[in-house]
Amino acid sequence: EVDAAQKAAASSAADSDAPTIFDKVIAKQIPAQIIYEDEQALAFRDISPQGPVHFLVIPKVRGRLTQLSKATEEDKPLLGHLMYVAAQVAKQEGLAQGYRVCINDGPNGCQSVYHMHLHIIGGRQIPDGRL
Ligand code: IMP
Repeated sequence: EVDAAQKAAASSAADSDAPTIFDKVIAKQIPAQIIYEDEQALAFRDISPQGPVHFLVIPKVRGRLTQLSKATEEDKPLLGHLMYVAAQVAKQEGLAQGYRVCINDGPNGCQSVYHMHLHIIGGRQIPDGRL
């Protein structure tokens, strides 16, 4: 039996307003390695890490922020907060030599989960201009 979360995840690329798997992460209904949490944001390890350290930073309230390109003036403080959280958690993760922060937007950006998120990848040398 396919549960609602799986259905939501499968349909998220097609319907950008549908709930995503990240709602389940926020609600702690599925296991996740949460490494930071505050009132507005959550950071957790990516299930398919692209480096020794790979975590995601997401807003707890998705609102219009299914993707970066939907952001409005109102979202500016939240976007700033997410960036700041990324930097603080990177420090906590020991990424003193640097890291890459990446946001995939929409089909051309290869976004697969329509709940805006920052990827933070580190712990290895990232090749010039590529993930
Ligand atoms: P996107 O392709 O930029 O939308 O990134 C989605 C990311 O979410 C991918 O790197 C996935 O590996 C990751 N991901 C998907 N489902 C989960 C999960 O349940 N826990 C943690 N990471 C996930």
